[in-house]
Amino acid sequence: MKPAVFLDRDGTLVEEVGYLDRLDRLSLFPWSIDAVRLLNRAGFAVVVVSNQAGVARGFFAEPFVLEVQREIDALLAAAGGRIDGWYYCPHHPDAPLPQYHRACECRKPRPGMIRQAQAELGVDASRSYVIGDRWLDVQLARNVGARAILVRTGYGATEERQAPDGMAADMVADNLIEAVSWVLRDSRATRHGPESR
Ligand SMILES: [Mg+2]
Ligand SMILES: [Zn+2]
Repeated sequence: MKPAVFLDRDGTLVEEVGYLDRLDRLSLFPWSIDAVRLLNRAGFAVVVVSNQAGVARGFFAEPFVLEVQREIDALLAAAGGRIDGWYYCPHHPDAPLPQYHRACECRKPRPGMIRQAQAELGVDASRSYVIGDRWLDVQLARNVGARAILVRTGYGATEERQAPDGMAADMVADNLIEAVSWVLRDSRATRHGPESR
């Protein structure tokens, strides 16, 4: 079993644009490719976990979510980077579309997407990290016993000023590359890294 770094998509890996509903609005942060490659090279599974309530709200359909994944995969592949697993939740408890109207197990901060990755990719959640721009990403980490990094990109700078009671990240980073640098140092220091077992 290897550790994973679970990445939020919008606001963490790519620019937050409200609801990303057209490919021409997709923009990786300038450091995202380097960040993913560093994690690949270190031996982490790199897994994206994303709430896509825009599907439940009828703003775009599930094939578009997959199209975005393929586009990001292509951008990364051209530079030698790789996402090992893609997971998204298309549901919302208030969805106008009945097929997506549900209180599911996969909508962050519930742990369904990470549970699925554990089963499909053989990931050890207790040695893993979650990086995201919302407190729900931090809560997701808490729910599976992983470490949590809040990034200040996307909604992160605003979120940082509005921490829910009792909630704290293990680290707050300016952006994904700073978060990844911390993960690499922390995993060596705590012997939780991919090489450790
Ligand atoms: Mg986000
Ligand atoms: Zn769901």
